[in-house]
Order: sequence, then C-alpha cells, then structure tokens
Amino acid sequence: MTQYEPVIGLEMHAELMTESKMFSKAKVVDSVEAAPNTAVSPLCLGMPGTLPVINEKAVEYATRVALALNCEINHHNIFARKNYFYPDLPKGYQISQYEQPLGVNGWLDIELESGETKRIGIRRVHMEEDTGKLTHQDDGTSLVDYNRAGVPLLEIVTEPDIRSGEEARAYAMKVRQILRYLGVNSGDMEKGVLRVEPNISIRPVGSTEFGTRTELKNLNSFRVLADGTAYEIARQTAALQSGGKVVQETRGWHEGRRETFSQRTKEEAEDYRYFPEPDLPPLHLDDAWVETVRASLPELPDAKIARYMANYELSEYDSRVLAEERAVGEWFDTAVSAGGVPKSVANWMINELFRLMNEAKLSIDVIQVTPAALVELIGLVEKQTINNNTAKEVLAEMFASGASPAKIVAAKGLAQISDDAAIRAVIEQVLDENGEQVARYLGGEEKLRGFFVGQVMRQTKGKANPTLVNKLLDEALARQQ
Ligand code: ADP
Ligand code: MG
Repeated sequence: MTQYEPVIGLEMHAELMTESKMFSKAKVVDSVEAAPNTAVSPLCLGMPGTLPVINEKAVEYATRVALALNCEINHHNIFARKNYFYPDLPKGYQISQYEQPLGVNGWLDIELESGETKRIGIRRVHMEEDTGKLTHQDDGTSLVDYNRAGVPLLEIVTEPDIRSGEEARAYAMKVRQILRYLGVNSGDMEKGVLRVEPNISIRPVGSTEFGTRTELKNLNSFRVLADGTAYEIARQTAALQSGGKVVQETRGWHEGRRETFSQRTKEEAEDYRYFPEPDLPPLHLDDAWVETVRASLPELPDAKIARYMANYELSEYDSRVLAEERAVGEWFDTAVSAGGVPKSVANWMINELFRLMNEAKLSIDVIQVTPAALVELIGLVEKQTINNNTAKEVLAEMFASGASPAKIVAAKGLAQISDDAAIRAVIEQVLDENGEQVARYLGGEEKLRGFFVGQVMRQTKGKANPTLVNKLLDEALARQQ
C-alpha cells in the first residue's frame, strides 16, 4: 500500500491590542465584556462617504511581529480590497494586503518532543481588519455585533513545512508566546483574539508535489488543533488508500464526535476579486522607522533561554520555565540584578513562589512579593538567620501580606537559634525526657537519631539551626556512651 506523508501549512489570525481600530477612531473593546455594537463608527458600518485612515500603532505592532518572526519587511506596502458578501462585513469588502504584504520570508524555530529543533518557514505576515461577529440563534435568526468589525488583524501564514498535528501545535503555541511577549495580543483563544487554521494535505512519501488540501476552521484550542489535524491526516489517508479522493474544502471540528466535517468548498483567490484599495495610498515604511521598531523589541524567549543557560548555568528546563512568560523572566532578571544568586532565585521561584501563585491563582505581575524581597529572604537563609523551612513560611507570609522578610522574622520571633548553649540545653532536656529511646539508640538503633533531631526542632518551633543541632546532638550522644 502506498505510504503517505502529511503536508501542513498554518494560517493564524491575531487581533492587535491597539486602542482604536485599523482604519477608524472607534475603540477596540473586549469582545466578551462590551455590550454589542457600542464600539462602532460610521466607517466600521460601511456608511457611504466614510474614508479609512491607517492606524500607525497597528502598523508598528504588526511590524514588531513581522520582525520577531524574522521576516523581511516590505518598505512599500499596498492595501487591497478583498470582496465578498456576508452580513459580518458591512462594507462588502475587507481591507487586507495581497500583493505586497508587510513581512515575507520569515521563519520560526520550534522544539519537537524528541528535543530536536525544526525551522518553520513563514511565507507572509500581513495587515488587515477583522469582521463583525454573527451569533446564529435557534429560531433561525442571526444577531450581529460590529464591535469587532475593523479591529486590526494580522494574518501569519507559514510555508507548508509542518508534518504533524503536534508540530502544528508547537508552532502555534510559540507564535502565541511571542505575540504575548511583544504585548500585541493577549493570546486568549476562547475570546477569539487569536485563531488558528491548518491547511492539510497528504502525498506519497518521496513525492515533491502537493496533494489536494482541506482547511480546518474554528478550532478554539491548541489541543483541538493537534487532534483535528491528526484526524484529518488519518481521514485523507484512509480515503486515498481505499481509492477515493480528497476534495478541496473547508472543514470544521465536531468536539462531541471528535471528527471533522465538511463546511463549504473553498473559494479561490479570484472569487475575492482583489484590487488595490483606492481609498488608501501605498504605505511607505522607511528603514529608519523599521530599525526603531526593531530596536524596541524585547528579548524573545529563545534568546532568554540561551542567556539563562549560558550566563547562569541554569538547566534547560528551568530556563524554559522562567522564560515561558515575559513578565516571569523579567521578574527573575530583576531579582538577579538585585544581587540574587541566579540558581537560588530560580529554585525559590519555581518551587515555592509558583506554588503560592497557583494556589492563589495570581500572575506574577500582581503579586505583593517583590524580586528584591525574595533576594532579601534568600539572604536571611544564607546568613543562617532562618533555616530553609522557616523561610518557606516567611515567603507564604510575604505573599499574603506584602511585608518584608526581616519584619516578619522579627515580629514572629522566627530568627534561627544559633546559640550553642541554648541548643545544648534543649538537647539535654530531650535526651533526659526520652531515656528509653536513648538506651535503644545506644543499643544500636541508629535511626532514632532522627527522632532526637525532630524533638529538638519541635521544642524550638523549627527555629534551631539544623547544622548546629546535628553537631551538638552527636556530641551529646557520644557523652552518653
Ligand atoms: P489561501 O490564500 O487560499 O489561503 P495560501 O496559498 O496562502 O492559500 O496557503 C495557505 C496555507 O496553506 C499556507 O500556510 C500554505 O503553506 C498552505 N498550503 C498551501 N498548499 C498546501 C497543500 N497542498 N497542503 C498543505 N498546505 C498547503
Ligand atoms: Mg488564506
């Protein structure tokens, strides 16, 4: 039987978090929270006599993305009309880019589960505007909300370099991460501000031609992207292997049945009758402006991970965790600048701080613990003012109240007991009170040593310096022999 390999290209649509829309002054609002049709202008509604004006901030955001995805920037940008008739598009056309998109020939490296890195080519990044939102009701009528109409939208299209649902997912997640790093999109897929559409075909292994593709739409999570793509690969393979064929069409995902279904046969480009938008002049982006945008890009995840591994000798795993979100990486960097030892700061963040954040469902930008305060806490452990376990309690208290570690230690009397005489006295008392255990210990039951340590820690409410306890306990036990 012929063996087939999948060929996949991804289109992603990302709304840009600008204040106003792509071609008008209407506000960009939260599509879920805002009341319908409260953020619209005559232009979004396609009123006669309105004219579009390009939103400079949107162009800047789009350029940030194109640069972060390693694209070449077209200095001469043309907007085009993409004509089609649908109630979510009052103008009867969408302003998009066709022949001269903002960014071309980019790429993004993704990490595969095998640990290998794979480079995915990016064909184009272009600017356009979003459409309104239709809600189809059970009685057969539909409601339309034009708040979303005209919101700046970016289309990011890959080369057909992807070979599995998992790769598609890894790529899409990385694009989302970068959009969030750049501060141009929240990545909120449930709200529809980021949408992913895979184009999928299969071809005989070894063939260099492409097979007929289907496109999956309305996938609302990365898991559905991976599962839907895998399903489609299997469906097409079964069709060809049984002598059938693949029809070029748009398909949806049925979550209940966990399968794809046909929605409509695909339009061809000529159906849209693209032509240059007559109401907008070509947009010229000069080198100096593009370079200003490039210089304003934050350090991106891969660079951050590489820096953590090289400069701080953190493991790849820890580096990835800290670089996952820009705000977390910046918090870590601030702590290190404040004098924290990178490895200790990383451990405290990953093991303790993240646990507290998860429990409280708080993100790092709203917590009360500051990077400097964590560094101060770690300093108290290093100076042996408090031991590790006490430090965990202090951190929880810092997290709850925002108080400084020194204040908490003083107020609660948590400072470690590092006074030989005081610890010796507690040890003598513990040994006196547990004569039977002492006898058993001396008779060879060595594991009882841990019991004595535990008793001493209990008597001192966990504040005894563990190193001293161990040393002084050994001396005391030796004297009992
Ligand atoms: P359209 O303009 O019709 O959406 P494009 O040519 O821009 O089509 O391609 C859209 C996406 O589909 C791109 O990511 C591209 O890599 C991918 N693609 C194109 N042809 C195929 C194919 N035969 N199989 C899989 N993916 C494809
Ligand atoms: Mg397309």
